[in-house]
Amino acid sequence: MTGAELRERFEAAFMPNYGVPPVALARGEGCRVWDADGREYLDLIAGIAVTSLGHGHPALVEAVSAQVATLAHSSNLFLHEPEVLLAERLLELLGGDGRVFLANSGTEANECALKLAIKYGKANGRPYVVAAENGFHGRTLGALSLTGKASIREPFGPFGIDVRFVPYGDAAALKDAVDEDCAAVFLEPTQGEAGVVPPPDGYFAAVREICDATGALFVADEIQSAIGRTGTWFAFEHENARPDVITLAKGLGGGLPIGACVAFGPHGALFAKGDHGSTFGGNPVGAAAALAVLTTIEKDGLLANAIAVGETLTAGLDAIDHPLLAGVRGRGLWRGVVLTGPHAPAAEAAARDAGFLVNALQPDALRIAPPLILTAGQARSFTAAFPAILDAASPGQGDRP
Ligand code: PLP
Repeated sequence: MTGAELRERFEAAFMPNYGVPPVALARGEGCRVWDADGREYLDLIAGIAVTSLGHGHPALVEAVSAQVATLAHSSNLFLHEPEVLLAERLLELLGGDGRVFLANSGTEANECALKLAIKYGKANGRPYVVAAENGFHGRTLGALSLTGKASIREPFGPFGIDVRFVPYGDAAALKDAVDEDCAAVFLEPTQGEAGVVPPPDGYFAAVREICDATGALFVADEIQSAIGRTGTWFAFEHENARPDVITLAKGLGGGLPIGACVAFGPHGALFAKGDHGSTFGGNPVGAAAALAVLTTIEKDGLLANAIAVGETLTAGLDAIDHPLLAGVRGRGLWRGVVLTGPHAPAAEAAARDAGFLVNALQPDALRIAPPLILTAGQARSFTAAFPAILDAASPGQGDRP
């Protein structure tokens, strides 16, 4: 089917919650994808920070194919080797001393973390949790109750959970909001959906101190930031502020659906038998995919690649002098390109026309979150094309004959 036909049929068959995406993707290879009409693009979004090894990576293909042919599903009535190996590997990367729950997605990983926080709160007389304004934690009702963006949360509330919102990155405001009645503080190490917005240096060390002083759990939502995206396995490593609970998804499965919630120390034993569960969570195929992702990131030095190519990308963007470009923020291969006005949708479309997939995640910010295998040459091909992309996105360009 052509892209136009697919879009028309999509519109007729699907709920209108996504609108109709502009491109119908047909296949991918490495950092390149092709649409249904055969047009090639450099993929600088990676399915929203997901396809960490790029498309069709042999290690992922082999692991998933072998697993689906051996045992595709078990349910939680039975256990299996891939999930055990994955949980152990995650604990090893996180420094041991924890327990894992495997889910299918980011929002489900956060549901698990929220249930842990509620259980901890009920046991210790702590009735509320704290999260950040503009934060994003997912779309299921528990995760949505933590999501700071009012336009996403409020149409579906109230949720029956006492969530108090504080400005992100403001340690003094957090200190005022968190006392001995607080069960948990939920934060992203950098706010992804808000526009790849990092907090000021020292914020997470302060969060750790506030939680230590009050006994509130520090829950780091690393669904978008972990598994090498910022050049370290986990973003909390940049401030050495290890949370009590961490949630993971996206890049962990390299494109296969998997999420994880890891709780450290005594918090790993908060759930009793029967407190939580999932039929598909941690299924053998997702677990095998995640193991292949973790092994390949390590074997191929992709953490170092994320740092090096991330720097190439920013250096190239920083060198551009254009009235639409305000600056670049973020770390590793996770960047917010900040524009001087609400030009991001036009810039996304102009980038697409030039053969690059980026994402207008705020009116004035583009997200770049490519596969961790992006090469310096590919990064440079984008920065070389970017001035012309911005020219094409400049107000008035679309009106020209
Ligand atoms: N938490 C963060 C920080 C995210 O960026 C996202 C997705 O963008 C989620 C949670 C929700 O993950 P999912 O879409 O897999 O449910």
